[in-house]
Amino acid sequence: MSKPVVSVVAYKDPYHSLREALELCDGLRDFDKSHKILIKPNLVSWDFELPFPPFGVITTSAVVFALVRILHEEGFRNITIGEGPLAIPKPKGRAMFKTLGYEKLRDNYGVELIDFNEDKFEEVDFGNFKLSVARKVLEADKIINLPVLKTHNQCKVSLGIKNLKGCLNRKSKMFCHGKDWSLDHTFPHLMRKLPVALTVIDGIFTLAKGPGHTGYAYRKNLLIASRDALACDVVGAELMGYRAAEVGHLKYFAGLNNRDTDLAGIEIRGEDVEKHRSYIDYDWEWTVDDTGPIGFQRRGITGLAIRKYDDSLCTGCSTMYNPMLIMFMSAFKGKPFPNVEVVSGKRQVASPGFDYTVLFGRCACVLNKNNPDIKKAIALKGCPPSIQELDEALKEAGIFCDYNEYVKYRHYIFNRYKKEDGFDLGLYLM
Ligand code: SF4
Repeated sequence: MSKPVVSVVAYKDPYHSLREALELCDGLRDFDKSHKILIKPNLVSWDFELPFPPFGVITTSAVVFALVRILHEEGFRNITIGEGPLAIPKPKGRAMFKTLGYEKLRDNYGVELIDFNEDKFEEVDFGNFKLSVARKVLEADKIINLPVLKTHNQCKVSLGIKNLKGCLNRKSKMFCHGKDWSLDHTFPHLMRKLPVALTVIDGIFTLAKGPGHTGYAYRKNLLIASRDALACDVVGAELMGYRAAEVGHLKYFAGLNNRDTDLAGIEIRGEDVEKHRSYIDYDWEWTVDDTGPIGFQRRGITGLAIRKYDDSLCTGCSTMYNPMLIMFMSAFKGKPFPNVEVVSGKRQVASPGFDYTVLFGRCACVLNKNNPDIKKAIALKGCPPSIQELDEALKEAGIFCDYNEYVKYRHYIFNRYKKEDGFDLGLYLM
């Protein structure tokens, strides 16, 4: 049996490098001019209020534009770009399309732009569970998956297969982060029902401690493409220093399809993977006794036990988790916190011995509703909780946060790329 082909191309400019990547893997071989093509970039989120560094977080518009141009040159006319970005408090896909310049693709090439959150979903049966998938995705003849080369603090890597989770409605996304099952065993099933014909991993940037803007981006200058979704992700994982066999969802997906994750079983064309393989961390380090991030310990923070998130924490609460940490940090004035525990997600049960228990999010509130070990609950019932809710509620325990510190932090993570070469916002804002 012939090996799946993956091309790895050194990025020089979006158009020529993408053309080369597609030619090396014969990426458009299965496409017909009559096909409805759906391009699924990773546009997981954006922030219109505070500075948001997009590097390694979302697909570069430069690659999206190059792909549309190539498809148009090859005679494809029925092209849709669709994504379901985080819709809290309301859908922001259209505003993102505008900011990223995608409206030019609509005006110049007739590309349809869809925020899945504002369109219809259909329930699809996967055997053990059902998920609601965007109608536009199910109607496509061919999907071109356009993820980013990034790590993920719950899934180790977030590449093509993980990017498909963005095709679900909010409820189904939440379902994937279940109490009694692993996240890794949910979204890979989407591959069984969706016509993913081509994956192009945008590796202009790569992101450590992803998947969000709090991670750290590096310029990587690679494009990876394949008609084989698993092989493409295996190579993408390798480039960030991860063997696919150690990545739960890739191993699981390979098992579902009677395949292995061995790099030797893939024909790589273009750049040498070993040459570009470089390990980046996927997760934040926590204290051994699970009382908080190592950074808190280094700052001498005591009287506080923030239990580390698990994969039952869905994207909404994950997005608010970092602001929660920064808000706690802003309240630290050198004295111990008043013996506080923070639990989150659908599995964390509050422990005895604390004077206050912060129940971070509706799921933690429901799970711990009748927990006799809680002396004084600070219930943040939002789904997810907001910074304002956290700020107000913590005052009950005499904890006074400073939102300005959070704003400063956001400026800091945005500004840190300014002194680095190649961190050009022009790759996003077309
Ligand atoms: S409370 Fe948080 S973890 Fe629970 S469903 Fe809402 S966003 Fe997800």
